[in-house]
Amino acid sequence: MKFMESSTANTLIFLSAIPISVLAFLITIHFIQKNRIKEREDRMMIYVFDIDGTLTIAGDRLNELKKDPPDWDRFYDRCDEDEPNQAIINLLRILDLDDHQILLLTGRRESCRKKTITYFEDHGVPVRCMDLVMRPDGNHEKGAVLKPKLFNEWARNRGLHKIDKSRFLFFEDASSVTKIWRELGYTCCQVEEGDF
Ligand SMILES: [Mg+2]
Repeated sequence: MKFMESSTANTLIFLSAIPISVLAFLITIHFIQKNRIKEREDRMMIYVFDIDGTLTIAGDRLNELKKDPPDWDRFYDRCDEDEPNQAIINLLRILDLDDHQILLLTGRRESCRKKTITYFEDHGVPVRCMDLVMRPDGNHEKGAVLKPKLFNEWARNRGLHKIDKSRFLFFEDASSVTKIWRELGYTCCQVEEGDF
């Protein structure tokens, strides 16, 4: 407490030594900068990208799901074999240049995180500067059920749950997930005809 009082007294002594015109100038600059930050935050968009079928193109590993029973472990384990969906990756990189928020929201298991990060870094996506939200290991919910839950939790944690829905834009391939985002009032660009 004594430290705080002494600190406040020192600040007051320091401020009283500054000419009033300089003080007024500094306060004006402070409020101009504050307004600029607020304007930038108000303009900020949040782009939400799915991974499988949106940023990447799953090829041969889809055969793991045609087995009886489907081999989900092998399917996820081979996630780094996908081809990049270069057009969508290029778009993501452009959107990332302009101070917007990017979220990668995927039904891939959390256990694929390391492979996923390495894959995107190899393809020029600065994924460590973005949020990557993944399916918890052991979770088997359908994407259309799981993704809104993960998204809502992420938005709450980021303090973004109350901002206007027009500031979110989703990219997704699965028809079922695209439908959910649209039903929830968001704009979703479906990049493939993912009829599942
Ligand atoms: Mg997908």
